Amino acid sequence: MAAIRRSTALAHQLLVQSSRKILRSQKCCYGNFLPDKAYIGGAWVPASSGATFPVLNPANGIEIGIVPDMETSDVQTAITKAHTAFKTWKKTTAKERHDLLLKWYKLIMDNQEELAKLLTAEMGKPLVEAMGEIAYGASFLQWFAEEAKRCYGDVIPAPTGNKRLVVIKQPVGVAAMITPWNFPSAMITRKVGAALAAGCTTVVKPAEDTPYSALALCELADRAGIPAGVINVVTCSRKNASAVGKLLCQDPLISKLSFTGSTTTGKILLEQSAGTVKRVSMELGGNAAFIVFDSANVDLAVQGAMASKFRASGQTCVCANRLLVQSGIHDEFVDKFSKAVRKLVVGDGFDSDTTQGPLINVRAVEKVESHIDDAVSMGAKVVCGGQRHQLGGSFFQPTVMTGVSEDMLACREETFGPLAPVVKFDTEEEALAIANGTRVGLAGYFFSNDISQIWRVAEELEVGMVGINDGLISSEVAPFGGVKESGLGREGSRYGIDEYLNLKNLCFGNL
Ligand code: ADP
Repeated sequence: MAAIRRSTALAHQLLVQSSRKILRSQKCCYGNFLPDKAYIGGAWVPASSGATFPVLNPANGIEIGIVPDMETSDVQTAITKAHTAFKTWKKTTAKERHDLLLKWYKLIMDNQEELAKLLTAEMGKPLVEAMGEIAYGASFLQWFAEEAKRCYGDVIPAPTGNKRLVVIKQPVGVAAMITPWNFPSAMITRKVGAALAAGCTTVVKPAEDTPYSALALCELADRAGIPAGVINVVTCSRKNASAVGKLLCQDPLISKLSFTGSTTTGKILLEQSAGTVKRVSMELGGNAAFIVFDSANVDLAVQGAMASKFRASGQTCVCANRLLVQSGIHDEFVDKFSKAVRKLVVGDGFDSDTTQGPLINVRAVEKVESHIDDAVSMGAKVVCGGQRHQLGGSFFQPTVMTGVSEDMLACREETFGPLAPVVKFDTEEEALAIANGTRVGLAGYFFSNDISQIWRVAEELEVGMVGINDGLISSEVAPFGGVKESGLGREGSRYGIDEYLNLKNLCFGNL
């Protein structure tokens, strides 16, 4: 036991040393993007108190840098700047906003690799996934640049001959955004792209774990020529997050709040937003069922499950959380799936072989462990993985468990980690009852080759997004969002911009 502990400590020490080296060399690449200031009113500013907090690399705990730990007074300044900027930004033409968003998009793509390295350093996902996120995130700016030009209104046949009714769309005003660490870049562009296209200005509070990706986006927005005050990013530690969040919910100068994060925090923000009757979008937690029916192509289902479960080490809100596999193909699926899982390579996101980075922190590891312990204590079996990885820190072995039932924590809660619990079922009705037996409903997946079943199940799943014979469902063109306690509103797609627009009815009378 002591020998194992010693070798684990040694492996971790080696990793820390090599990461330091990588970090030093990366720093010269993304040195431009490591400001120790927040971005308010087009200027790089410290917290008025002078306070800062460190940003750590989750692969090794090394400090990447420090950023301002802002308080409500700093946020108040950002709100005022955004409100002032709104007065002119709302008057820009759709074409002007289109051109600026497109310039920003191009600058991001020109700097894709540097931004990806920064993202890997602060969030931990493998570099190749980070490259994908930068492109995915940028695609929202390109998409909404086009949508800016298509915010058409309506002419409605009037109920009386002497009236004419015209509906126009107008930006809601200043939009506040609170974003999570698992997509440090894309969760910002998906919101800010839509807001700017609509003519809104923004105040963004990125997650405390990953502020640099947000600040890097500001640097490029500035270079693109997006005017001062249109985008403001305030950084703060977890300690200040609730006070800052409360102000963003309660300040009457803010017209809209868009949040991506946990259901628990989302509910707090919703309550706090009631006083000012804010427009809200909430993209909250999920508990995605991934159903494999007997008729499925098992190899495709394995591929889909790998993509859906293990992306970002299982830390996305649309990751498969529960794998429901029909009894006829259960053993074949588990066999092929666990073989694929054993091939995953855990390591620092900067190592080119790595397919699984660290979890964001040790708290996340403890959650995965608690789900495994709970399931095992109730009779589930670990097929592969099940332990902390020998690299130590927040690395965890990709894990498959069988004999799981819906009463276990791994089925009831979102694990947000590399754990794939497999539940065996017999009938379609049973699978649907398990899949829908939860208060959340973000994504769901199923694999089947029975066309009638495909329609039935797609319509019956109580979720906002369904992957049918597909494990990857997100793109800028498709609406992203959930039902039940998974949230309100949709992001991306032609519907996403509506979240930032008010309809105004112009009633012309006595004509
Ligand atoms: P996680 O636990 O995965 O970090 P959260 O929902 O707590 O998920 O965090 C998502 C975002 O919400 C982060 O930017 C975080 O700082 C912020 N946040 C957390 N708690 C609050 C709160 N009470 N008010 C406002 N923002 C919050």
